[in-house]
Amino acid sequence: MYNPQSLRAEEFISHAEVMDTLSFAEAHKDDKALLSEILAKAAHRKGLSHREAAVLLRCEDPDVITQINRLAKQIKLDFYGNRIVIFAPLYLSNYCVNGCTYCPYHAKNKHIVRKKLTQEDIIREVTALQDMGHKRLAIEAGEDPIHNPISYILECIDTIYHIHHKNGAIRRVNVNIAATTEEEYHMLKEAGIGTYVLFQETYHKESYEKLHPTGPKHNYAYHTEAMDRAMAGGIDDVGLGVLFGLEHYDYDFVALLMHAEHLEAVHGVGPHTISIPRIKRADDIDPNDFDNSIDDDIFAKICALIRISVPYTGMIISTRESKAVRERLLPLGISQISGGSRTSVGGYDVPEPEDENSAQFDVSDRRTLDEVIHWLMELGYLPSFCTACYREGRTGDRFMAFCKSGQILNFCHPNALITLQEYLEDYATPDTKALGNVFIQKQLAAIPDEARRTKTQTLLREISAGKRDFRF
Ligand code: SAM
Repeated sequence: MYNPQSLRAEEFISHAEVMDTLSFAEAHKDDKALLSEILAKAAHRKGLSHREAAVLLRCEDPDVITQINRLAKQIKLDFYGNRIVIFAPLYLSNYCVNGCTYCPYHAKNKHIVRKKLTQEDIIREVTALQDMGHKRLAIEAGEDPIHNPISYILECIDTIYHIHHKNGAIRRVNVNIAATTEEEYHMLKEAGIGTYVLFQETYHKESYEKLHPTGPKHNYAYHTEAMDRAMAGGIDDVGLGVLFGLEHYDYDFVALLMHAEHLEAVHGVGPHTISIPRIKRADDIDPNDFDNSIDDDIFAKICALIRISVPYTGMIISTRESKAVRERLLPLGISQISGGSRTSVGGYDVPEPEDENSAQFDVSDRRTLDEVIHWLMELGYLPSFCTACYREGRTGDRFMAFCKSGQILNFCHPNALITLQEYLEDYATPDTKALGNVFIQKQLAAIPDEARRTKTQTLLREISAGKRDFRF
């Protein structure tokens, strides 16, 4: 039975409810009155239910799609402005006991080079990341209780937070590791992590079990209920995601929104972020072996619909996608992107040799971080290295309340400007610095409160004079 408040995966992601929703969407996809009603609701920026969003997803009317895109762009601007938060992944270890059929880390892959960073390796890698200008990392690891126990992950987090090279610092570590116990989530919280990210891969139980034939990840309920354990363990910010291409996209789209509704119903706060990865080629993985791949048009539509369905949830797109696809999705609701990424274990300090591939997937956007920053500003986006909310305790429901208070332009926008100024001073190429200096001056005008604007100008001057790490 469908129950968003239940703590049982099969009840809050009820298969019957997803199927019912898809039939409802099919039956109403051309129902003009209902479509207008749903679009009008979305225009109020209060979000959409999974059922309403499913009707829009199924509808193929070009006018409706134009309206969805227009709304997504407007909501993105109203809630996030033109800011794009920047992060990099750091792969700690590719040892893994699971059998995920789409991931080259699967235990039966005897071909991939297995690696695990030592604490000395981490110091070298993180120093290289700091020298690029990164302030925010997402650490990633395979699941292996012997090679990557929680004690190892905690030690790595501690090492990362203690590395201070020149003006560099990693100010927020997000964590993407396998589903674990409430107790271990509590340990991660105590270690000062930002968001705990776990992709569901697919919500379709039968497919999930086939795609994860062996290892602890085979347990659908344990994986699907992980975010409830994470929140019970004290982690306020959790990040959902689906690996598009595994299952039919409409099933996973509906279930993803049901998961967000479930978190809101049980914990009073929805997901902090939603990621939308697509399967990519990797060591022994051919994306063509998965027949549910989605084209760029559907991908863009999914992005826009998530934006209008959960307006307060950040959306992430990684370097799995090309520059062109990222450019297309940015205005439709993306709020965070990675830049200059390596998906190998190590590789930031010294690039991995050709014959030593340990990467999780092929990166499509291979530009340097500086090129990404330059490109964003040329497109009119404000790259942000801000980590203030998390460091000021504005997480979970406090973050949501903050967003809803409409104070973003008086807080996030100045924070983005001052962290971009740090980047320009410490890491940018002369070309990017010149563009950035002009860009920052123009962007100051968007701060509504005059006193806040003046204070920001003062801080920008102090940063140019050598001071660092201010925040509102
Ligand atoms: N091992 C952890 C887990 O089980 O959740 C950590 C996740 S893994 C390091 C990060 C994510 O990469 C996975 O959740 C999966 O969605 C994605 N991934 C795996 N293989 C991929 C591929 N071939 N192409 C694109 N993304 C992939």
